[in-house]
Amino acid sequence: MFCPQAKGAAPAKGAGMNQTTNGHFPTLSYAATGPGARLEPWTIERRRPGARDVAVRIQYCGICHSDLHQLRDEWGQAMFPMVAGHEIVGKVTETGAEVKRFKPGDTVGVGCMVDSCRTCASCRAGLEQFCENGSTLTYNARDQQGNITYGGYSGAIVVDEAFVLRVTHPEEKLAGAAPLLCAGITTYSPLRHWNVGRGSKVGVAGLGGLGHMAIQLAHAMGAEVTLFTRSAAKASEARRLGADAAVLSDDSTAMAAHQKRLDILLDTISAPHDVNAYLTLLRRDGALVLVGAPNQPLPVAAFPLIVGRRTLAGSLIGGIAETQEMLQFCAARGITSEVETIRMQEVNEALDRLARSDVKYRFVIDMRSLTGADRPA
Ligand code: NAP
Ligand code: ZN
Ligand code: ZN
Repeated sequence: MFCPQAKGAAPAKGAGMNQTTNGHFPTLSYAATGPGARLEPWTIERRRPGARDVAVRIQYCGICHSDLHQLRDEWGQAMFPMVAGHEIVGKVTETGAEVKRFKPGDTVGVGCMVDSCRTCASCRAGLEQFCENGSTLTYNARDQQGNITYGGYSGAIVVDEAFVLRVTHPEEKLAGAAPLLCAGITTYSPLRHWNVGRGSKVGVAGLGGLGHMAIQLAHAMGAEVTLFTRSAAKASEARRLGADAAVLSDDSTAMAAHQKRLDILLDTISAPHDVNAYLTLLRRDGALVLVGAPNQPLPVAAFPLIVGRRTLAGSLIGGIAETQEMLQFCAARGITSEVETIRMQEVNEALDRLARSDVKYRFVIDMRSLTGADRPA
């Protein structure tokens, strides 16, 4: 997800690599040393759990397109070396003395945030992603002590209990549950905010990690769902995911047939594109919600907004309570991400394929492969 609060790239105090210091423990990760660099093994230091901390052994971590944007420094503000990953599922290994909700052995998740101020109006409203003092993102950010945060392409993570989620999916579905921590909540939150329910007409633009979650979630909420994609192969699979119709976005006749119908369109497209073509798909007072975060501005014409009083909006992940609600919504309905599970050593090829939209529909790293010991030479 977007990283509005990342500041500067100077090395952080106490964030030294490949050395063990008091109060820290070494953790193997995969890091990029510069924009677009291949990810390589790298040892980071995690803090030992404080009183309110939960230490997690990471089992699975999804690869979000935001990881790609940030590893390639497409949004600016990237800090290297960077350990990406914010779709984390694992097992609690240790808890601090004041931790109440978790114990060793519990299955938990960590998403895009690991801290926030907890006192501003947004935090008090359960909207930590909009923390007015800047929430601490899981990686490529600075924590309250000024240390750079490192994400889930690693063996373990230590997170304040308040930002740890309970995951109740069964063990065999945990790889598919990991992407819920970003792709799931990022699509669930706007569907809820715009009151999607039975009979709503929902459009989804782009069938990648976010798009395939948006289809499943909107369908589960009772909506009629239409996918807009560039890919004929993906269009033919959309029904299986829960879409009622699929439209090739470069087919102007098909696009014309879908004008003025949608209540809401979730735009998950990761690259610059013509939003005006999607705005005209909305009915009067409909909303086009950008969740995709292209690195270039998107030109918007006035008329598609004026005519029909349409709204162009955006949405950023979701708060912690809503993320927990989404996880329960998905667990109760058996909803997971469709994943291609990879070994850690395959991450660079996976990132290249993700850049080409060649994934159905989310890569997830199986951290048992991290040291390579799962496949002795
Ligand atoms: P993804 O798996 O790569 O899916 C993006 C989809 O966009 C592709 O599958 C493709 O769909 C479509 N697309 C890509 N390039 C396109 C182009 N040039 N023209 C038209 N369509 C194109 O990525 P993702 O992980 O779902 O993430 C999508 C975007 O959401 C990224 O920008 C990511 O950074 C952002 N994001 C935002 C938030 C937030 O909080 N707002 C959270 C997570 C991610 P088709 O092949 O079907 O055309
Ligand atoms: Zn993400
Ligand atoms: Zn706050």
